[in-house]
Amino acid sequence: MGSGQVTDSSAPFDFRGKHVTVAGLGVSGVPAAKVLHGLGARVTVVNDGDDERARTQAAELETLGVTVRLGDGATLPEGTELIVTAPGWKPDKPLFTAAHEAGVPVWGDVELAWRLRDRDGRKAAPWLAVTGTNGKTTTVQMLASILRAAGLHTAAVGNIGVSLLDAVTGDEEYDVLAVELSSYQLHWAPSLRAHSAAVLNLAPDHLDWHGSMEAYAADKGRIYEGNRVACVYNVADKATEDLVRAADVEEGCRAVGFTLGSPAPSQLGVVEGLLVDRAFVEDRHRNAQELAEVSDVNPPAPHNIANALAAAALARSFGVSAAAVRDGLRAFTPDAHRIAHVADVDGVAYVDDSKATNTHATEASLAAYESIVWIAGGLAKGATFDELVAGAAKRLRGAVLIGADRALIREALARHAPEVPVVDLDRTDTGAMLQAVQEAQRLARPGDTVLLAPACASMDMFTNYNKRGDAFAQAVRELGA
Ligand code: ADP
Repeated sequence: MGSGQVTDSSAPFDFRGKHVTVAGLGVSGVPAAKVLHGLGARVTVVNDGDDERARTQAAELETLGVTVRLGDGATLPEGTELIVTAPGWKPDKPLFTAAHEAGVPVWGDVELAWRLRDRDGRKAAPWLAVTGTNGKTTTVQMLASILRAAGLHTAAVGNIGVSLLDAVTGDEEYDVLAVELSSYQLHWAPSLRAHSAAVLNLAPDHLDWHGSMEAYAADKGRIYEGNRVACVYNVADKATEDLVRAADVEEGCRAVGFTLGSPAPSQLGVVEGLLVDRAFVEDRHRNAQELAEVSDVNPPAPHNIANALAAAALARSFGVSAAAVRDGLRAFTPDAHRIAHVADVDGVAYVDDSKATNTHATEASLAAYESIVWIAGGLAKGATFDELVAGAAKRLRGAVLIGADRALIREALARHAPEVPVVDLDRTDTGAMLQAVQEAQRLARPGDTVLLAPACASMDMFTNYNKRGDAFAQAVRELGA
C-alpha cells in the first residue's frame, strides 16, 4: 500500500453549455440525463435498442429538451466533451474507442455522483464503500443500520434503495453514505475517493465483461484508491489483501483485516462467540474491544459474520462506538431470499437462499449447515460445479435438481458425491418447485436443513430469483398445511 499524491477531483465541475453524451437509457441513464440537463449541459442520449420502452423514455426526455438517438449506441455524437455511461456498457464498445481517440473522458454513474456530491456548497457526505463478489447488499445494509444506531443520518445506496445520484443531488443532507459498488461501476469511476472501503471477497464473476480475472480484480481494487482512513480486506481471501497492497492511499490510511478467527493487531475477528475489534482501539497490540455477540448477527452463518465484521470495520473507521455496532447489528434484518428461514416442518428447517445465484454464494450457504438436502439448478452461466460439490459432499443428505443446466450439477455429484441420493426433475412448469420441495421433504431427516441455494440464475423457470424464492416458500407452506 503506497501513499502519494492522491488527486482529489472534488473541484466542482461546470456542466453549463457542455456537450455531454449519456450512453444508455434505463436505470441510470434517464436520471443522469435529467440531472445533467438540469445543470445546464447540452445532453444527447444514445441507446442501442429502439423498443417500445426506449421510445417512451425518449419521448419524456425530448420534452425536456434532451436529444435522444435510438438504435445507435456506437457513434460518438459530434462535439461530445464528456460521456456518462451506464455501468453495464462493455469497455470495448466502438463508442468508447471513438471517445478514447478523440480524448473524450468517460464517466460511469458513480463517477458522476462523486463529482456532483459537493455542489452548491452543500456538505459532501463521506462514502463508506463496499464491493466484492458476494455479500455487498447485506454488508451495506448492516453498515447503514450500524451508522443509524450511532445517530448518524445515512442511507444504504447503490444497487439498493436510494440511487447514488438521488442521494447526492436530492434534498436530504447525509452525514455519511453506505455505498454498494459493482465491479462495472468501479471500472468507470476513476476519481472516486472513499473515506474507507472494503472488498469482501473475490471469486471469478463477470469475466466476459472485464476480459480477465486480472482486469476484474483490478477494477474491484479501485475502491481502495485514495482511501483516507482504512482499507478493509478479508484475511481469508488473500486476493483482497493484495489489492490493498497495490492501492495508492492517503497518508496514514491503514490496512484493516477481518477474520472469523482470532484477530491479530489491526484486525477485527471472533473470540469465544464475540466479535472483537483490535484495529480501532488504543494500543492494539495489547487491547481489544468487544463489539457484539455472534448471536447478534442475523443469520449467524459464517459468511454473514464476515459481512458483519466488514461492516463493523467500516463503521469503526468512521468513529462509531462499539455499542452502536451491537445495536445496529441487532436491528438488522436481511433482505428476502438471503438465507431466509421459511419454516420448520416435522423437525426439518426450510431455508430460502434463492439469491445464491453463483457457486461462490452457494459455497458459503452450504457451509452454514451440517446436514442438508440441497435444492439446486437453473442457468449455470458457464459455471462448473466440481469444487462446490466436492467441498460440500459430506454435508449432503440428498439433492433435488431443477432447471435447464441441472445435468452439470448431477454430473458433479456423480463424480464427487456418488453416495448422495439425487432426484432429477425435468419439468419446468409452475408446479415444479412444489414437487422439488416434496422430494426434498422425502429425503430429509429431523435436524436436517432443506436449502434452496441454486448456484444458478433463475430465468429459465422464473422471472427472477425473488419469484423462485417465493415459489419455494409457497411450496413449504403447502407442506405444512
Ligand atoms: P451481493 O449484493 O454481492 O449480490 P448479497 O448480500 O445480496 O450480495 O448476497 C448474495 C448471495 O451471496 C446470497 O445468496 C448470500 O447468501 C451470499 N453471500 C452473502 N455474503 C457472502 C459472503 N461474504 N461470502 C459468500 N457468499 C455470501
